[in-house]
Amino acid sequence: MSAKLYFDHAATTPMDEEIAKKMLPYLTADYGNADSPHSIGRAAMTAVDRARDRVAALLNAKPSEIYFTSGGTESDNWAIFGGAYAQKKKGRNKIIVSSIEHHAVLSAAERLQAQGVEVVYLPVNEGGRVEINALKKELSDDVGLVAVMAANNETGVLQPIEDLCALAKQNGALFFTDAVQYAPYERVDVKAWNVDMLSLSSHKFYGPKGCGVLYVKEGVRIEKFVAGGEQERGMRGGTLNVPAVVALAAAYEKACATMEENNGKIRSLRDTFVKELSVLEGVTFNGDVKNSIPSVVNVRFSGVDNATLLYKLDLNGVCAAAGSACASASVKPSHVLTAMGLSEQETRSSLRFSFGKNNTEEEILLGAKICMQAVKELRGK
Ligand code: PLP
Repeated sequence: MSAKLYFDHAATTPMDEEIAKKMLPYLTADYGNADSPHSIGRAAMTAVDRARDRVAALLNAKPSEIYFTSGGTESDNWAIFGGAYAQKKKGRNKIIVSSIEHHAVLSAAERLQAQGVEVVYLPVNEGGRVEINALKKELSDDVGLVAVMAANNETGVLQPIEDLCALAKQNGALFFTDAVQYAPYERVDVKAWNVDMLSLSSHKFYGPKGCGVLYVKEGVRIEKFVAGGEQERGMRGGTLNVPAVVALAAAYEKACATMEENNGKIRSLRDTFVKELSVLEGVTFNGDVKNSIPSVVNVRFSGVDNATLLYKLDLNGVCAAAGSACASASVKPSHVLTAMGLSEQETRSSLRFSFGKNNTEEEILLGAKICMQAVKELRGK
């Protein structure tokens, strides 16, 4: 098989080999259960403590505010359910989530709705951004939680987290941001944003899959989500995935240390891709590309069915995505593009390309060429 052109880094990134090597000792020699009180267990807990310290320092948080989870989905679920249930006890039975959240947030909100919690979905403008006034209109004394993601996974568009958070908190609500797509490309400072909760996922920054973080600000009370043992200070049951936790911290540290350099490279690759595709007729770039993480571009090819194009690209070695990773096999219209005002037909002719640190200029040029050829063939000209 010829080499693949992997343009789907928002779905997942290949694991960095240097990081993968850091997992090995904890899979074999240092295999202890971090909660075992004997020396082998304590060695594992020492590694977890070190990882927690490193992640906390990078987020400008305290180690006691960091919880390790099984990934972005669990962190998002915990923040939404845990935050909503705790706030309901204080008489605040309403939550506000943006309409462009990942399904890890939206599905949790739907379940809460079925349980009698009032859920309000915030609109976005045509650039894919939540406007401050939209939140202002919805806030009231009964709102317990507001959730807006820091960067969207389908368009890459950045959200005004600091301002939204300040507004939510003035009204006594908790504020949660899903920073899963943001954190690999922009430095997170939880104190500067003043958020109450924030989620990360390791496999978006060249770490292992199945490991994530939920930051919970000191003093903020949320309900437990995964019931079990007394792990994670009694807040999250389950034996800690020590190799993944160690690798998550190392991967995040590396992502932060190389961020500027990688962003410059990735942004330039995306610019080249955009420039190449721009010569084709009937091509539109969805969302405010200038106000986005550098890796993602969402492209609309008028007159082309995205599922067919995706399949054709795959046959020619190009890996892209239609919508979010979890929905990539389905042909459902994207809820994100729909929220931005695109028609069903327009959402069905849009694809996401997301680039990474290992892509090269040659790959981008070849990928763009393959893509343009495929679009022309599908249009029959
Ligand atoms: N939130 C966002 C914005 C994502 O893009 C993803 C993954 O695609 C998730 C949450 C879920 O993270 P995980 O795959 O670690 O469960």
